[in-house]
Amino acid sequence: MDDLTKLSLAETSELLARREISAREVAAAYLDRIEAVDPKVKAYINVNRDLALTMADEADRRLGSGQAGPLTGAPIGIKDVICIQGVPTTCGSRMLENFVPPYDATVIKKLKEAGAVFLGKLNMDEFAMGSSTENSAFHPTFNPWDLSRIPGGSSGGSAAAVAARTCVASLGSDTGGSIRQPASHCGVVGMKPTYGRVSRFGLVAFASSLDQIGPLTRDVRDCAMLMEAICGHDPSDSTSAPREAEPFTSSLEGPVNGIKVGVPREYFADGLSQEVAQAVNRALDTLRELGCELVEVELPHTKYAVATYYIIAPAEASSNLSRYDGVKYGFRAGEYEDLMDMYKKTRSQGFGAEVKRRIMIGTYALSSGFYDAYYRKASQVRTLIKQDFLRAFEKCDVIAGPVAPTTAFKIGEKASDPLQMYLSDIFTIPVNLAGVPGLSVPCGVDKDNLPVGLQLVSNYFREDILLKVAYNFERARGPMPDWPEP
Ligand code: GLN
Repeated sequence: MDDLTKLSLAETSELLARREISAREVAAAYLDRIEAVDPKVKAYINVNRDLALTMADEADRRLGSGQAGPLTGAPIGIKDVICIQGVPTTCGSRMLENFVPPYDATVIKKLKEAGAVFLGKLNMDEFAMGSSTENSAFHPTFNPWDLSRIPGGSSGGSAAAVAARTCVASLGSDTGGSIRQPASHCGVVGMKPTYGRVSRFGLVAFASSLDQIGPLTRDVRDCAMLMEAICGHDPSDSTSAPREAEPFTSSLEGPVNGIKVGVPREYFADGLSQEVAQAVNRALDTLRELGCELVEVELPHTKYAVATYYIIAPAEASSNLSRYDGVKYGFRAGEYEDLMDMYKKTRSQGFGAEVKRRIMIGTYALSSGFYDAYYRKASQVRTLIKQDFLRAFEKCDVIAGPVAPTTAFKIGEKASDPLQMYLSDIFTIPVNLAGVPGLSVPCGVDKDNLPVGLQLVSNYFREDILLKVAYNFERARGPMPDWPEP
């Protein structure tokens, strides 16, 4: 094999199992590719060469002794919001620039047990707040398909690294679209599981009632492979569902005819770019040709989703981020007069502008006298949004629509207009508010060769049907352009 980084996770896994290649060779190939390509893409915050090679050697030992699984020796990148013991976890923030977690997140523990290899930590919007990765305190990440454009966010590093082939697959987190939107912009597959499906223990909290960890991969099979590895009940996360991982990879094949695909009118409204609409409509035709039955569904409260999210998410964030006070974690201002001054200076200097904006919105929304008008109201609307989905799933098995209203925009294009930035999540946010699973699978390109994602959404804990429809779609869709060479 001339370039090991061209293989998918499933292909890599097969060659490793047959011992035609070694985990060390694979890790070395990816580390070389990172050296060559990442200075342009800047998907990584930290690369752990030594750790990766040590893990690869351990994987080779397991492969040699017959104790290997499908992920043994797979070189994976991790969004820098997930704790790996002994490895800096910055969350894209100055506040945590020097934070080294003393424990592993549950997903990390699971991946370690599976024998995966960690290449490094991937860039993100600070504390996962953003849609372009421009809010990272360290540097932006560039879209491998066009380096003048954003990769999406907040898991922009996770999506860009998969597309640039600087890791075989990655983990991201999704609070309002942060896995699906960058997956769509970078032409990779990204999945937000059902809320509670994947443990959040060791995930730095943004908005705890919305956050979920999920995979970003080159194709749907790889996504199913990672899902199998990271799902499952975890007593360390009180919101973890009592559901064990399912054999998602074995339910991918098989016909999808008769599956009902709901098309929400509200997702094809004003603001959706023509080219995205065309690609998504072609995808719907493909689903029909596969034998799916297309039905119209209504999600009438969609129009309130962004406003609702921008009360609930900042409210929870303002509470979660109160722990960064210069005492318990991370950064502390150098000079101050008294305790109050220390708090103020630490938080003013340690957080970036968007994080401070969210803390102010959230604190305001929760303050006495405003709680009923904002937080309570938003929670009520959230219930209506959830009911929209439950009603729709009485008529269909899967909902299909766009992931984002446009393809990847230019760096800087929306940086000074938070509202425009917030609107890029208009189709992904309702899925988090409801807690149902959603997936982005590439469905075409626009005239500039920029990828477009198709969003598929299913009922609670029906990731199996989501992956099956996506897998069948991917095979019928025909090839996407070759991976970019940034
Ligand atoms: N872009 C959204 C926000 O800034 C979603 C982020 C996310 O899913 N983490 O809140």
